[in-house]
Amino acid sequence: MLPISHHTYRHDEPTVPLTWYRAKLDGVPTVYLVCKCGRRPPLSTSHDIADDGTVTPSVWCHPDDGGCSFHEMIKLEGYAAV
Ligand SMILES: [Zn+2]
Repeated sequence: MLPISHHTYRHDEPTVPLTWYRAKLDGVPTVYLVCKCGRRPPLSTSHDIADDGTVTPSVWCHPDDGGCSFHEMIKLEGYAAV
């Protein structure tokens, strides 16, 4: 289980690899993961996130979609608090 730290997203700052942030997607509150390769999949549209931040199933940054093959079980640190 890989812990992922929270990062507050700002338009004028670069995203930090292996963090997560909240933002809106078409007006809907959404959780984004920032992969170590810099891709930012909208996590909550494809995965379940428990109240303690545990994400199921595992996250796979698939090479067929231009990803980096990152494949881990992850937990969003501070998920309930922020
Ligand atoms: Zn990746």
